[in-house]
Amino acid sequence: MLPERTDVLVVGAGPTGLAVALTLAGHGVTATVVDRLAEPPVTSRAAVVHAGTLEVLDRIGIAAPLAARGLRSARFSVRDRDRVLLTVPFDRLPSRYPYALLISQAETEAVLTDRLTALGGRVLRPYEMTGLDLDGDGAVACFDGGRAVRARWIVGADGMRSRVRELAGIGFGGPADPGESFLLADVHVDSALPRDQVSLFLSRQGPLVWAPLPDGTVRLVATVGDAPRDPQAHHFQALLDERGPARRPDRITGMAWSSRFRIHHRIASTYRSGPVLLAGDAAHVHSPAGGQGMNLGLRDAVALGDALAAGPQALDGYAADRRPLAEEVLGFAAGLTRLAAAPPPLRPLRNLLLRAVSALPPARRRIATRLAGFEPASSRPRPRPR
Ligand SMILES: Cc1cc2nc3c(=O)[nH]c(=O)nc-3n(C[C@H](O)[C@H](O)[C@H](O)COP(=O)(O)OP(=O)(O)OC[C@H]3O[C@@H](n4cnc5c(N)ncnc54)[C@H](O)[C@@H]3O)c2cc1C
Repeated sequence: MLPERTDVLVVGAGPTGLAVALTLAGHGVTATVVDRLAEPPVTSRAAVVHAGTLEVLDRIGIAAPLAARGLRSARFSVRDRDRVLLTVPFDRLPSRYPYALLISQAETEAVLTDRLTALGGRVLRPYEMTGLDLDGDGAVACFDGGRAVRARWIVGADGMRSRVRELAGIGFGGPADPGESFLLADVHVDSALPRDQVSLFLSRQGPLVWAPLPDGTVRLVATVGDAPRDPQAHHFQALLDERGPARRPDRITGMAWSSRFRIHHRIASTYRSGPVLLAGDAAHVHSPAGGQGMNLGLRDAVALGDALAAGPQALDGYAADRRPLAEEVLGFAAGLTRLAAAPPPLRPLRNLLLRAVSALPPARRRIATRLAGFEPASSRPRPRPR
């Protein structure tokens, strides 16, 4: 049942909203978390949690249970069919988590929810926020069915098409182009590729990511010109034949899940407008190149939970600190996309460059550090967890 009043209302129980609530719970603050879905989704979606994010999640007691459920990838390799162009080592990262953790988003959400429940929190479902009135004391959020909740702070963790962002009148700029189109699937595959690493195939037709998941399936993600509405195993077999290993081709033997999606590069004009705060996909979206999206959202969430617990003076700091970090990640993801989609005349040069970088261990370590998502330590005081 929705309360009439709450201090913090978190709209959206995806990874971002759950992590905000969990961080607040660690500070002894109970947030009201709502989601329009009756049940959490069971699909795998974002499948990698990087070392920099695990370091941050460690503070809210989540890194160890995630690491126990995920698959640890020691390396990331960039390939042109059978040729390895570049190997990026995660096992040398200066971290307690020297790997990229492969784990389905549904599992990540389940771990966050279990921990929130253990701390006495819960998600109220299904409640869809449909209206928002702002006044001097905070905000009143309206829900389908006519219910209303007065809150001092409203956290928009409601994803890319955020209603909170829209109702607060916060811009979400970006190019008017149709965005990049992606196909993805979790498949069972007969393959000779190493299962301790993620492979990125660069090909004339576009990139293909091959990532092993803990349940024995392999996540395939590829950019395509025109994605079929209901992608089938044969679509992914064709992508593997076109872009994957040639000497010992992969053979798909089954498909657990598939989807398509389109992504624009967008960022909210501000992360704070009065009592409204944005985090996660509600604040930024970009291509999945480098697997940065959910990771950035999780790190936003912990920073926002800390700032809300510290008091109103910390919230402008949250907005001022986090937006430039998102700009940087958007630039990085766009750069990776450009590298992967280099025009045919530039590809030999690109491949040569990648092989040259491959011969320089410090350069390879720098790329690993960048992918791992370590952020500069905030100079702002953090409230002590209770
Ligand atoms: C098919 C698919 C594949 C993806 N693959 C990748 C990938 O490979 N790598 C990657 O980095 N990212 C990927 N993503 C993106 C990744 O899932 C997001 O970055 C991540 O989920 C963002 O988390 P979030 O909590 O900010 O938002 P979301 O996960 O979108 O959560 C928002 C929540 O808000 C709820 N909500 C929305 N509106 C309302 C409302 N009005 N009232 C109440 N509740 C509301 C929704 O039900 C939802 O539960 C993928 C996404 C999809 C859909």
